[in-house]
Amino acid sequence: MSEIAADPSHPRYQSLLMRHRLEEAEKKGMLAGSALIAHGRGEAFDYLLGEQTIPSAMIATQQAVALMASANHPIISLNGNVVALAGKEVLHLAHQLKCPVEINIFYRTPERMEALLFHLNEIKQQEGLDVEIFGAEPDARIPGLEGPRANCSKQGIFESDVILVPLEDGDRCEALVAMGKTVLVIDLNPLSRTARMASVTIVDELTRVISNMNRILLSDESPQQVEKYQNAQILQEALAHIATFLSPEV
Ligand code: ATP
Ligand code: MG
Repeated sequence: MSEIAADPSHPRYQSLLMRHRLEEAEKKGMLAGSALIAHGRGEAFDYLLGEQTIPSAMIATQQAVALMASANHPIISLNGNVVALAGKEVLHLAHQLKCPVEINIFYRTPERMEALLFHLNEIKQQEGLDVEIFGAEPDARIPGLEGPRANCSKQGIFESDVILVPLEDGDRCEALVAMGKTVLVIDLNPLSRTARMASVTIVDELTRVISNMNRILLSDESPQQVEKYQNAQILQEALAHIATFLSPEV
């Protein structure tokens, strides 16, 4: 790791650490060409949010955890950036929720799939986690999508009722909603198609969300759904936060 990224006192430590994780994943062949661009867009929105978990994001996180915990067939869908940035933490989350994960990447190649599976299995072993990993042998298709990105596992994503898809593409989010699933997304951009399509949108940074989720599940109380949850209001509050944060008085 570079000297700066290794120094927790550096004001950009978190951001540098995330970039470093992506660089390492890139070297291992885990990422698509557009991965760093997607991350950059996320960083820009995080800047506008003040790089913090805002109250409305915490409410959405609470709702998402409660929905996952009470689902019949919950699943977490993983892409390259999610594995690179939070592979270990996401597997801990899946272990706590007793739910499987599925690697479902936009630009699928056998080499990338192998690199991601290898990385996740290594973490699983090191951490002693009991999590089923789907994705190696897709045997079903998400209706309404063309090409390899429609591929999924029948026992995994296809049959899930509640699906957590951090950093999803708008198209696929829409297709999953059309299948009747409850779709929970993490997306720093409250204006993206993903954010607008989802059942629950957590407008917050991936690694912060996953650690908030793990913390909620580790606390003694069982997660409760938010009364009268309204996703449109959550999105509105994220936009309002950005507008306030940017106003000259602040
Ligand atoms: P959509 O397809 O939903 O309209 P998009 O095509 O504009 O979105 P993509 O390039 O597909 O966006 O994906 C990047 C998305 O992921 C961006 O909205 C970005 O804000 C978000 N993002 C990137 N990194 C993170 C992160 N670490 N945490 C949360 N969100 C992130
Ligand atoms: Mg997109």
